[in-house]
Amino acid sequence: MKAQLIDGKLISAEIKAEAAEEAAALKAQGIEPCLAVVLVGDNSASKVYVSNKQKACEAVGIKSVSHVLPGETTEEELLNLIDELNADKSVHGILVQMPVPKHIDDRKVIMAISPDKDVDCFHPVNVGYLHTGAKGFLPCTPAGIIELIKRSGHSIEGKNCVIIGRSNIVGKPVAMLLMQENGTVTICHSKTKDLAGICRGADIIVSATGKVDTVTADMVKEGAIIIDVGMNRNAEGKLCGDVDFENVKEVAGAITPVPGGVGPMTIAMLMKNCNTAARIQNGLM
Ligand code: NDP
Repeated sequence: MKAQLIDGKLISAEIKAEAAEEAAALKAQGIEPCLAVVLVGDNSASKVYVSNKQKACEAVGIKSVSHVLPGETTEEELLNLIDELNADKSVHGILVQMPVPKHIDDRKVIMAISPDKDVDCFHPVNVGYLHTGAKGFLPCTPAGIIELIKRSGHSIEGKNCVIIGRSNIVGKPVAMLLMQENGTVTICHSKTKDLAGICRGADIIVSATGKVDTVTADMVKEGAIIIDVGMNRNAEGKLCGDVDFENVKEVAGAITPVPGGVGPMTIAMLMKNCNTAARIQNGLM
């Protein structure tokens, strides 16, 4: 293998250790960071995500309180619970696991969470802060991507960064963060013409399409950094990313695996945001 393997497990462990130190320092000041996790319905993937987030909280020393609601919960009932959590001074972060059942409008849910408790960084106020570069929450997966690149020894400044995918959760916010790191950013999507040609000019490629083999070796410049956000199943049912890892690793300079790349970073960055929430609500930032 030619490329450096960017180890998301190792880097996320470093970040969680820092979050644990930060949580301990807050506790020494009489503040116990606390995350409220809300799960509506019994989507099995969501249950796993919620359980992993709770385990991470426990490991880091952040209190977590879970609210598991039945699938028939009405929008009004969910919004009422969010109001209660907004008002509860012992709760610093609120996370409603997405997707919520179809009869609930997820935009209303996002808007209902107090921006000061919005540890997912989905509320338009926090998205606005992200765009203006103000201090506060950073969206977990995109911020995790920046940490992966920097902590594995690479700089972003002056680099041509190509992002494949323009979702509100990954593509758009990661573009903003790469630009803030002084990268030159191109955002591609399903209507982009000559994706391969654009990718060949990239020093950094971030793929977030959810499509197997979006990035193949012929699209990658020698030595480029490849960040694979995708979480897909291949023909054999095995978890894989968007990137043809086996072939791209022979051309790239550095690459994230799936699993063990971007995935673990999302929860680590969530832990940081819980501490940030506790600091914001106690006038410490
Ligand atoms: P979305 O489906 O919301 O967005 C996918 C984007 O990819 C769209 O902008 C779409 O373009 C673009 N796209 C799709 N196919 C192509 C193609 N063939 N060529 C170019 N662009 C294409 O997905 P998300 O952003 O929510 O997630 C993307 C992937 O990342 C998924 O696999 C998801 O599971 C994973 N993920 C992983 C996380 C982690 O923690 N590791 C966290 C979040 C997501 P258009 O807009 O034109 O439709």
